[in-house]
Amino acid sequence: MAKKKRKKKETETEETESVSEVSNPEKEEVFRNPEPEPEREPSPAIEIANSFIPLGLNRGDFSGGKAKGAVIHYTGGGSHVGTIEALKAKRLGYHFIIDRKGDIIQCCEIGKRLAHCGHSCWDGDKPNDEYLGISICSYGLVRKVGQEFRAWPNQWRTKLNTEIHQIRLGTCLRNKRPQYWEAATTLQQIRLYELCQWLRKNLGLDPFKFAGHDEVSLSGKIDPGGVLSFSMDDLRNWLEVNKPGTEVIDEVMGED
Ligand SMILES: [Zn+2]
Repeated sequence: MAKKKRKKKETETEETESVSEVSNPEKEEVFRNPEPEPEREPSPAIEIANSFIPLGLNRGDFSGGKAKGAVIHYTGGGSHVGTIEALKAKRLGYHFIIDRKGDIIQCCEIGKRLAHCGHSCWDGDKPNDEYLGISICSYGLVRKVGQEFRAWPNQWRTKLNTEIHQIRLGTCLRNKRPQYWEAATTLQQIRLYELCQWLRKNLGLDPFKFAGHDEVSLSGKIDPGGVLSFSMDDLRNWLEVNKPGTEVIDEVMGED
């Protein structure tokens, strides 16, 4: 019985092989007349972005065709990959995410609107409709529990590896008492300055139109808070004083 079964299998194999040898006229046609390569669409990414990962959530063009300013946030999470998934689920978005290595991930064309700062006001503008969103990958505010530092995801059960995530004591606009934050890396801070300078130059933005979410929020948001080692005033002054193209030096980053 077993012998018979094996024999049958061999026959099947032979049949399969012989079928594959029959020429496929359609395939030959394709080979003789290959489809012309489709013309690649030009990338909507700006030149200093490292990659473009579209969120697919834009809410149409900025009125006047361009943003009036930019709001700085932190993501409150781990990698940019997880952040992008969370943003899609909440139908929110940042135009730019700066990861811990300093890579700038662009998530939307700069002429399109995304929802990133809710009920907000700055200098008579409505940043949620009129400004770009820039977010630093950071867990943001963290809590010290014993010798551990924990972040908000999973109700403060996310333990931070302090060899990867640097902790700093800092204050935020809404609380002058020092608290613990996951510090933005030096590379992230340099890239934030470079990105803001690029936007200032290429969109003709006034330095005053760069603001923290905490400054524009009417609902009490605290980001970027103590994640950055400089204040928004420091950033605005630097943008005012330094011509576009000025190299960002470590001294700009403060003491950290
Ligand atoms: Zn924010």
